[in-house]
Amino acid sequence: MRAALAADSNLRKIADALPALIAIFDADHICRFANAHHLEWHGRSPDELVGLHMREFFAPEVYAHRLPYLERVAKGEQVSFDAQMPHRDGMMRDAAIRYVPKMGPDGFLGFYVLAFDVALHQHRFRGVFDGTAVAFWELDFSGAKPVILRLKASDSADPQAHLLAEPGLVRRVMDATRIIDVNDKAASMFGIDRNSVAGTPIGRFWPAESEAAFAGSLAAAIAGQPTYEIETVLQRADGQAFDVLFTCAFPDDAGPKHHVTVGMVDISERVAKEQALAKVQADLAHAARVSTLGELTASIAHEVNQPLAAVAANGNAALRWLNRAEPDLGEAKAAIARLIEEANRASEIIARTRALAVKGESVREPLCPNLMIDDAVAMVRRQLDAQGVELRLELASRLPEIVADRIQLQQVTINLMINAAQAMAGQPEGTRRVTVRSRADGAMVAFEVADTGPGFPDCDSSKLFGAFYTTKESGMGMGLSVARTIVEAHGGTIEANCQPEGGAIFRFTVPAGGPCDMPPTCHTDV
Ligand code: ADP
Repeated sequence: MRAALAADSNLRKIADALPALIAIFDADHICRFANAHHLEWHGRSPDELVGLHMREFFAPEVYAHRLPYLERVAKGEQVSFDAQMPHRDGMMRDAAIRYVPKMGPDGFLGFYVLAFDVALHQHRFRGVFDGTAVAFWELDFSGAKPVILRLKASDSADPQAHLLAEPGLVRRVMDATRIIDVNDKAASMFGIDRNSVAGTPIGRFWPAESEAAFAGSLAAAIAGQPTYEIETVLQRADGQAFDVLFTCAFPDDAGPKHHVTVGMVDISERVAKEQALAKVQADLAHAARVSTLGELTASIAHEVNQPLAAVAANGNAALRWLNRAEPDLGEAKAAIARLIEEANRASEIIARTRALAVKGESVREPLCPNLMIDDAVAMVRRQLDAQGVELRLELASRLPEIVADRIQLQQVTINLMINAAQAMAGQPEGTRRVTVRSRADGAMVAFEVADTGPGFPDCDSSKLFGAFYTTKESGMGMGLSVARTIVEAHGGTIEANCQPEGGAIFRFTVPAGGPCDMPPTCHTDV
């Protein structure tokens, strides 16, 4: 039995390196091995301990306390328990102890003892918990366990949607999840008193708008993910909302305690900076658009003035020829023909000047259609968020590439998304949705921007693309006109329709080039 229980030199090396007590006892409770940490804990070297009965190893009363556990391990059961262990400083220390049976062909040979100094680990944890710039909450989520177990059992494909679908469920789980302790940083971040916060339901710090983020963390726990991280909005005790990066690491199911520690970093400053930057960008884009349109209007007014004067002069001449006592129909016809010619010239000037509004020189390059959409979406996402518009992307995978001017196509896509958002501004939040799609369409790649707005009168799209057609108070009526110029210059077409279920849908196409050999991110599956 001795041989079977003797530790080989490798085990000894490993065991000696660990900051835990590791020992081996035989079936008669005689110590056969003790690692170096015993010297630190008991003040006795392994040499002094090996050969001792457990009764002498500890005090007799400690041995008596261990007897029920010793009986269980002798039956081949692995036993874990928390208990007090005498320390060389004369105090009793809390330890987490595990007995692991060692079984041979003839049954029980003895057992390994593993003991960790809980106080030491708690002390280290406390050090990290209290001394960091990250706000920590230690939570008791035993109240959330029934819901987690119910959803786990239901095997739902989308637990987050499941949670959000049942009214009030997320809020109930939040109110059942209670704070055990917070660190100083969390106390100051949330404006709470660390000494009286224990037992507070965390729902107090979660505004309704962030319930989906909380449901996401539960869904992650249900899916067995080890960690979860999300940017969300929480609120201080006084109700003031702020942006945080929220993270949590879930304990594994084996643990007996329903404790989870979550960490939060205040990112409101960063978010404020990003918002300010986005606003500056939007303002700049607006200023650029207005100044382009200002120039455009001036140049149209200037260039069209002359043919319009000619139209009026020829119209007057035609009238004079007709008003004569003996009307000269030949001269009148000639004047009207000149009038039509000048009117055509005026409309050509408008068309040419409109083309000028399109960004100066067109640069053609091979593009991945979905990356073009991603870039356009990145530029307006915040603006759509701020307007309470939900954005959906339904992008086909494995699209061919297109040879196009990236900025110009982005300009078209952005314009359609902004128009969609503006069209829905008057309707209740929660019903505003923009869907952007891409798909292959024969020799073309087709793009769609659909909204859930009111559509346009009589579903008649003939006026929409005309220059200066607008129904908005501060509209210029140039966006769609410029979009059509860009799309047609690329060899594609653009059209608008009303959808049977309501809302407008704008479609444009661009000729497909060769296969897309861009990185795989370009192939987003629908
Ligand atoms: P502007 O946005 O300055 O009005 P546009 O040329 O971009 O100029 O749009 C012209 C008009 O087309 C808009 O004023 C609006 O009446 C109509 N329109 C554009 N997009 C939509 C949409 N998604 N739903 C309903 N009407 C739209």
